[in-house]
Amino acid sequence: MKKVIVIGGGNAALCAAITAAQNGAKVTILESAPKELRGGNSQHTRNMRTYHPEPTKTLVENYPFEEYYEDLLKVTKGETNQELATLAIKNSVDLYHWMESLGINFQPSLKGTLSLSRTNAFFLGGGKTLVNREYQIANDLGVEVLYEHEVLNVKLNNNIVEYLEVKLPNSQIKKFKADAYIAASGGFESNRDWLRQAWGEQSKNYLIRGTKFNQGKVLKSLLTQGVKKVGKEEQGHAVAVDGRAPLYDGGIVTRLDCVPFGIVLNEKGNRFYDEGEDFWPKRYAIWGRLVASQPNQVGHVIIDSKSFDLFMPSVFEPTKADTLEELAKKLNLPVEQVTKTINEFNAAVVDGEFDLTKLDNCKTEGLEVNKTHWARRIDTPPYYGYTLRPGVTFTYLGVKIDKDARVYMEDGKPMTNLFATGEMVAGNILSQGYLAGIGMTIGGVFGRIAGKGAANV
Ligand SMILES: Cc1cc2nc3c(=O)[nH]c(=O)nc-3n(C[C@H](O)[C@H](O)[C@H](O)COP(=O)(O)OP(=O)(O)OC[C@H]3O[C@@H](n4cnc5c(N)ncnc54)[C@H](O)[C@@H]3O)c2cc1C
Repeated sequence: MKKVIVIGGGNAALCAAITAAQNGAKVTILESAPKELRGGNSQHTRNMRTYHPEPTKTLVENYPFEEYYEDLLKVTKGETNQELATLAIKNSVDLYHWMESLGINFQPSLKGTLSLSRTNAFFLGGGKTLVNREYQIANDLGVEVLYEHEVLNVKLNNNIVEYLEVKLPNSQIKKFKADAYIAASGGFESNRDWLRQAWGEQSKNYLIRGTKFNQGKVLKSLLTQGVKKVGKEEQGHAVAVDGRAPLYDGGIVTRLDCVPFGIVLNEKGNRFYDEGEDFWPKRYAIWGRLVASQPNQVGHVIIDSKSFDLFMPSVFEPTKADTLEELAKKLNLPVEQVTKTINEFNAAVVDGEFDLTKLDNCKTEGLEVNKTHWARRIDTPPYYGYTLRPGVTFTYLGVKIDKDARVYMEDGKPMTNLFATGEMVAGNILSQGYLAGIGMTIGGVFGRIAGKGAANV
């Protein structure tokens, strides 16, 4: 019986551990987090993008392979590993059915996410329920889970992993050895120093949407020992979140989806980007960087009562006022400039037929920064405002893998006993941009491949 160690305790790790156990391996998961905080960023997820040639119980119509691939090419501007992207997409439907067979349930998409009803399978109960169920399945298969076991170093000897150096709950360091290892310990998004070094000084004002445990220690250990890197250090996924969100683990409830329905101002009271450029699922991932490029990395989204019910609200109450002047004051914005910007915006609105289901003809004309769809005058009190900050979801720098999820060295040699999946390999497919739901697809698909490979080294 092969002994397999899986590093990490999110969806990618769990798919790998379950598959390795199903393939007869004796599996141990080493997870940095304590039990109550387990599940990494996966616990915050809602859905997984799934190719399906025909409708499923919860996914409507079909989502052909070619369309999924095209969607990926659009967001990455064509820069993806064709072989691995094809594999991830083709296997996404099997992953969905495999999860179902394990008792993981899906639900139709809910109000506010209807545009994903054809493409993304929503986990019933969200990511937390998903990972809890995965832990239960792993437990039933005899997988050992060691919490508060942080892997500090993966000791390589040429293209073989010799052992892991692991920090135990009592802070002692212990060596762990196995026949095969699967690295599924996320990116480096929670490591503020690394982020600052890679993304610049301004990243000190970013919030981290997910777990604080993705410190990138395994990634760094591998990259400094000659493992081939993929993806750029400066690339990652960041969205605009409620400025009052906690530093870590704010999760989905602090994301703000009202941008297309209003206008976004910087601290000086000026608009800076087309809020209605495209459908929100295709644009939300650029707003983290957009807000990050504004003074003090802050933005303020302003809507009126016409738009209040159109989006999933933040967990925090909005700032509310009966006049725009009062709202600007409450948000600590320059009242005169805010009023001027909104008056100019309102005057530039060309009336059209407001329709959320398409790129409608409600737009502005003649502004330096026009709003190209869903533009309506901000004129119906009460008015609402939310302060936005950039919220980092995950980073794309990772390790090079092949179709067997095997990790490669810089000299082109494959590692004999090291596989990787999840955020750690996202950069193989995502050079830039993001396609909602593909993170979980990548982790699940390559997790299953890695689990099988590791059980059979
Ligand atoms: C708020 C939010 C919402 C999201 N929503 C979606 C969504 O709906 N759909 C989607 O596809 N993607 C979504 N994502 C992205 C998604 O979470 C990731 O793509 C996916 O979870 C990656 O899975 P993973 O297992 O690689 O990483 P994670 O789930 O983050 O797991 C990594 C694990 O490794 C552990 N770890 C880290 N370092 C070490 C170490 N040195 N030793 C031991 N253990 C370690 C961590 O504790 C963690 O448990 C979302 C992310 C966030 C933050």
